[in-house]
Amino acid sequence: MVVGDFAHEKDILVIGGGPGGYHAAIRAAQLGKEVALIERKRIGGTCLNESCIPSKLFANAGATLQSAHKFETFGITGSSSLSLDLSKLQHQKSELIHALTQGVEALLKKHKIERVQGSASFISDSEIGVEEQERFEKYKFEKAIIATGAVYQPDTNLPSGEARVLTGADPYELEELPEHLVLYGSDYITLEIAASFSKFGTKVTLILDEEKESFPFDQTLNRELMRLLKKQQINVYKKTKLLHALPKDDMVEISLVSPKGETTLEASHFYAMAQPQPNTKSLRLEAASIETTSAGFIPITTTTQTNNPRIYAVGDVTASGGLAVEAIKQGKVAGEHAAGENSEWDPDICPVIAHTVKPLASVGLTEEEALHEGYEVSTNQFPLASNGYAGITADKDGMVKVISEKETDVLLGYHAIGTGSVELISTAIQALEMGGRIEDMIYPYYPHPSINEAWLEATEGLLGKAVHGM
Ligand SMILES: Cc1cc2nc3c(=O)[nH]c(=O)nc-3n(C[C@H](O)[C@H](O)[C@H](O)COP(=O)(O)OP(=O)(O)OC[C@H]3O[C@@H](n4cnc5c(N)ncnc54)[C@H](O)[C@@H]3O)c2cc1C
Repeated sequence: MVVGDFAHEKDILVIGGGPGGYHAAIRAAQLGKEVALIERKRIGGTCLNESCIPSKLFANAGATLQSAHKFETFGITGSSSLSLDLSKLQHQKSELIHALTQGVEALLKKHKIERVQGSASFISDSEIGVEEQERFEKYKFEKAIIATGAVYQPDTNLPSGEARVLTGADPYELEELPEHLVLYGSDYITLEIAASFSKFGTKVTLILDEEKESFPFDQTLNRELMRLLKKQQINVYKKTKLLHALPKDDMVEISLVSPKGETTLEASHFYAMAQPQPNTKSLRLEAASIETTSAGFIPITTTTQTNNPRIYAVGDVTASGGLAVEAIKQGKVAGEHAAGENSEWDPDICPVIAHTVKPLASVGLTEEEALHEGYEVSTNQFPLASNGYAGITADKDGMVKVISEKETDVLLGYHAIGTGSVELISTAIQALEMGGRIEDMIYPYYPHPSINEAWLEATEGLLGKAVHGM
């Protein structure tokens, strides 16, 4: 190993080139700081290379293939033999990732951010060492931002090194379509995988663990999602204990106990839900006296500072992360605050989206959470079946649900499933941020005909004024 004998000096050092890290670096550079970004693998992190982008590409391919079933409705013929070539989709994935990561590299260059390849660890609370093959360089910093993300590992004990046993983002690496995919989990990641592969033509079975009868969303959404999974012919086992998943010659034997008794399933592939485990072990955080939780996550303030105010942390590595949308927001806040601006992030109004059988979007309090917090609530749901544009697209499954505080009419939550639900959520996020009342939401014009009108009528319905609601 060759040790650099003098330290490079930077205003701000960012460790990790995922969405948290590169947003932090660019924002700090926009504000005039000299920044270096250290990445040990590929720029873009888990998000661009393995998870968010591949999963949404697959979801879109599934939705596109499924939309072919509607062609006849619109008088379009000749689409009966369409099918998916997974290797071509993988090729498209590689091209897309290449284009996006090259785009991020170009942005870093444009903002004169020094791009350092290597693995970083703290030497002290003002120095970081970067190791790449035989080289070891020292960097001195005024401030540092840790954005090293997490690895997604299953809760369940799984046989390792088995090509048919999958977790995390593994399904998005497959080159051949599974015949029968059995998934154990209920989070948005598992639901997206189940939906995409089912739309591709794979037989899909979903197992919800012993504690779970349903999904982690608002109850009304959960019920509609369960109905849509059944309509998609995805078999769901509720409250089920997994006994084992044993790879055999060309299949996996899955043994489980559901409320209906013990069952054995044979699948071509088995997937187990994963949880993020923080990438903190190799950082030598103790050299900078940075505290972690017992699981290794870094606690942060609303300004994204760690217990050492000159060192920030953002994204999956923190005790307040788990989604790229949070990593991006926290990254910008860290970049701004480290550059001297007054900047904070609000943990409460974070949208969750999932491209399940139909897209799903949720922000603010669920009805159950609002009641639990002591609110007296008004709720209303508007079915897409009553929306004119949903009829035009022949895509009428789903609904928009809104929750407000009874006494003040202030919006508390938005939960929707069905076409347009992800696009609509931004209006709800803004309304929640501004403490919007129902009258603020129903006053403006809404384009006609459009799915936007489902949001309008869901909110109008809270005052008993929805024209098309039943
Ligand atoms: C299948 C799947 C689908 C998902 N879909 C979505 C979605 O649709 N929307 C959403 O909001 N979230 C989604 N997520 C979550 C999302 O991927 C993460 O929240 C996001 O990637 C976190 O960003 P980050 O910048 O904190 O970390 P990462 O993206 O993990 O980036 C961290 C980077 O740091 C680098 N690094 C680590 N240690 C070091 C070191 N010592 N030195 C130098 N570099 C280092 C790593 O190589 C990596 O490139 C999904 C996750 C999965 C598994």
